[in-house]
Formats: sequence, structure tokens, C-alpha cells
Amino acid sequence: MRYFYDTEFVEDGTTIDLISIAFVAEDGRELYLHVDGYDRDKAYRHEFVGQHVMPYLDGKPTTPRDETARQIAEFIQPGADLWGYFPSYDHVALAQLYGTMMDLPRHIPMRTNCIAQLAQMGRVGRIPVPNDAAHDALADARWTRDAFHWLLQHGGR
Ligand SMILES: [Mg+2]
Repeated sequence: MRYFYDTEFVEDGTTIDLISIAFVAEDGRELYLHVDGYDRDKAYRHEFVGQHVMPYLDGKPTTPRDETARQIAEFIQPGADLWGYFPSYDHVALAQLYGTMMDLPRHIPMRTNCIAQLAQMGRVGRIPVPNDAAHDALADARWTRDAFHWLLQHGGR
């Protein structure tokens, strides 16, 4: 099954501090967590994150990192394909919930596929799927799913 996901994080060139993560599975299930333990001062001080990410999370309860890791490992079933939009950092943020690269549960794929790559291969310049709440992880995960399906239908070769 395909799983579309997105994370929000604050990074400084050295660390990727996970703030929120959302998954949308192809069977319609969704998981959206505001992750406990990140540096909130840093997130609010960060110009982009403070303005575009944090407003979505005001008042949303947080989930400890170990519980986040557990819920995701349960949500993702064996045989999964992960998809994101420019997901290199997302994949690292996801994997680090479990520790080192070697600690990633075996049923969670070691790579996240990129729909931007799919668009490039299909010679699609811009994916015309609107997103009313960009930088909210759940809205972005849903957008990634919708963009993927648009590309399947329209991406020529
Ligand atoms: Mg996002």
C-alpha cells in the first residue's frame, strides 16, 4: 500500500528537529501527530517556521517521540511504499524517531519516493493541485496523495 506523508521541522544545517508528522494511507486512514520534545523557542524564532508552520499547531496536543514512533510503526503495514514531496529531510526525520538507520523497523521502507521526480519524469512542470493549508503536515500529506494521483493520470512520457 502507498503511504503519503509530510513532516514539519526546524533545521539549522546540523539538526532536523521534528515538529509534526502526518500520514495518509491509500485506504483512507490518516495519522497526524504534533511531536513532543522539539525546541519550541527555536521553532517560533525561525522566520519561516514561526510564521507558516506554528500557527497550525497552536493548541494541538503533543505526543511523545517514542509514542509517535510506536503509532507510526503500527500505522504502516508491511509492503508499504512511502511517498513525499522533496522528502529527503522528511525521511531522515521519520527514521530518526527510531534511532539510527539500523534501528528503523524492518517493515518501514528505507527510502521515500518523491512525486517531484515523478513529475520530472512525466515532463510535468507544475502540478496543478491546490493546497489551502500548505505547511500543515496533514494538508501537505493529503496534497501529496492528490498530486500523485493527478500525475498518474496526466503525467505523459
Ligand atoms: Mg509540509
